[in-house]
Amino acid sequence: MATPHEILKQYWGFDQFRPLQEDIIRSVLEGNDALALLPTGGGKSICFQVPALCMEGICLVVSPLIALMKDQVANLKKREINAEAIFSGMSYREIDRILDNAAYGGIKFLYLSPERLTTELVRERIKRMNISLLAVDEAHCISQWGYDFRPPYLQIAEIRDLIPKTPVLALTATATPEVVIDIQEKLLFKQKNVFQKSFSRTNLSYVVLPEENKYAKLLDILRKVKGSGVVYARNRKLTKDIARYLIENKVSADFYHAGLSPDERSSKQEAWIVGRIPIMVCTNAFGMGIDKPDVRTVVHVDLPENLEAYFQEAGRAGRDGKKSYAVLLYSDEDKRTLERNLLLSFPPVQDIRQVYRALGSYFQLAVGAGEFQTFDFDIADFCKNFQLDVVKTYSCIKILEQEGWISLTESVWMPSSFMVLVGREQLYDFQLKNPSLDPIIKSLLRLSEGAFQHFVPINESAVARLLKTTNDKVLPAIQHLHNQGIIEYRPLKDKPQLTFTKERVDANNFTIDVASYNLRKERQQKRMEKAIAYATTARCRSQMLLEYFGENSPTCGTCDVCLGRTQAALSTDDFERYKLKIKQLIVAEKITERQLMEAFAANRQPNVVKALAFLMDEGIVALENERLTWKEKP
Ligand code: ADP
Repeated sequence: MATPHEILKQYWGFDQFRPLQEDIIRSVLEGNDALALLPTGGGKSICFQVPALCMEGICLVVSPLIALMKDQVANLKKREINAEAIFSGMSYREIDRILDNAAYGGIKFLYLSPERLTTELVRERIKRMNISLLAVDEAHCISQWGYDFRPPYLQIAEIRDLIPKTPVLALTATATPEVVIDIQEKLLFKQKNVFQKSFSRTNLSYVVLPEENKYAKLLDILRKVKGSGVVYARNRKLTKDIARYLIENKVSADFYHAGLSPDERSSKQEAWIVGRIPIMVCTNAFGMGIDKPDVRTVVHVDLPENLEAYFQEAGRAGRDGKKSYAVLLYSDEDKRTLERNLLLSFPPVQDIRQVYRALGSYFQLAVGAGEFQTFDFDIADFCKNFQLDVVKTYSCIKILEQEGWISLTESVWMPSSFMVLVGREQLYDFQLKNPSLDPIIKSLLRLSEGAFQHFVPINESAVARLLKTTNDKVLPAIQHLHNQGIIEYRPLKDKPQLTFTKERVDANNFTIDVASYNLRKERQQKRMEKAIAYATTARCRSQMLLEYFGENSPTCGTCDVCLGRTQAALSTDDFERYKLKIKQLIVAEKITERQLMEAFAANRQPNVVKALAFLMDEGIVALENERLTWKEKP
């Protein structure tokens, strides 16, 4: 058996493991279940890829995002490691071929989306595979307490019965202490076993600027801090507007969101990675799986819904260890927007039922049918058809997902492909009988090798060029071959995939679990309040973020709160005035930090932050159960 170091050197060319990687790998090789909590960019993949390569057999990897799976599979293949992925939207035949290949030992890493893992087809084949390790990526998705709960994750544990001796390695970059416990329970860990790297980022300064004129402030920041940057905005339209504003003001920027075509996305991403366009204004669709070390600033022009998301996004700055900034531009409007969005995300049950019924009609599913059927899903078209509001419908779909009725993937991009369904002789016969189709069959076979054995990608335009004709001549001919049963043709896909995870029920039998719906709403509200508290706190920002993830740490000395304190920007008179007012408010009533801030006008809040920070440092004010109390003896 090769040692982990040898594998690391052989396939990745690295000489050393990063902190914790080796401990995690050793634990896995000893056959233990383990949970690895490493920050984004910390090198989680190696933690399961290296031990899997040390052992015989296949490593199953569960991952929620198709884009991430594809990235990892491509990365492994580049290193000549055999890897495949199975996800919603693939044909039965493709899945069957990959599973076969896995059972006969031709695959080292098999990536699966969680809703695929537990289908009967996959379960049956898993029994025939020699599985060395079950890796669960983005493991926080298993927890209702996490910020990205995905119900199919709960079924992962069912697989453990089929492979009782196989250890599980769960990996995540964001988990609060209760989520850490929950992950281990839900995955049926034999023993508690957590490896956690500190989330502290000493080179990163956290800054919150209460600001009504955000565009001007953003410009100011980007002019001051040179180098690469990311600007996160709440919606697609804003990304475009802000990028335009920056360009008009001579800052080289572009925008990015999930509504762009795959070509546009990858060319914009590439331009940013090589530094041709230094500033990317984007929605949260940008950044996942991108490993750019020299990002100097991450600016949020809107407050994210929760600190998990904020921490992940802000953490994309300064991976190279050099001084960097995570700036949040905050206004009172942010708070109201979040509160409004929270209400919109939890629509009434009758609306959810209406959307469920409409989905059944849209896909023409009879009651009792549809289990595990997957469809291309265009939400805009769906809403137009049934005259539904897009935002509300999206919320209803999210709830349907959380309740386990359906699952929806992000957009998948799968190139067109085909496979020959008949033998060589039969095909030759067909060519003789259909001479007009002969050239196209020859071109298809010439451009794509292996089509008798499995699905191969085709480029219809290349076929047209080869035949010196146009796409509108070629496409009907290919379709005709498909209709005749000579080939199976799968046209390009670029839509999100909606899967019915249960058979369709009559609307009267449609239920949701109201208790857990309410609980999730409550949790989401709590997370939102923590995010608002972060924006308005008078405590060290870094300390507060780390505490959220269960870590005790000293004050950072570099966030705006810490700096404001050392700069003693308040005059003694001002300080005494603020102290008096703060005291009156706190003594009168047990209020939260946020309520205290709200008692002051927005332009005074930065000073309140400074005064309160000092009072807390001196022990004059303390936080007890999130309420401020006055401790100074009279
Ligand atoms: P994560 O999934 O934790 O965000 P990745 O697994 O994608 O992180 O790894 C981030 C980057 O760090 C990758 O480019 C990877 O090759 C690199 N990396 C991981 N481990 C090591 C190591 N031991 N030495 C050098 N580079 C490493």
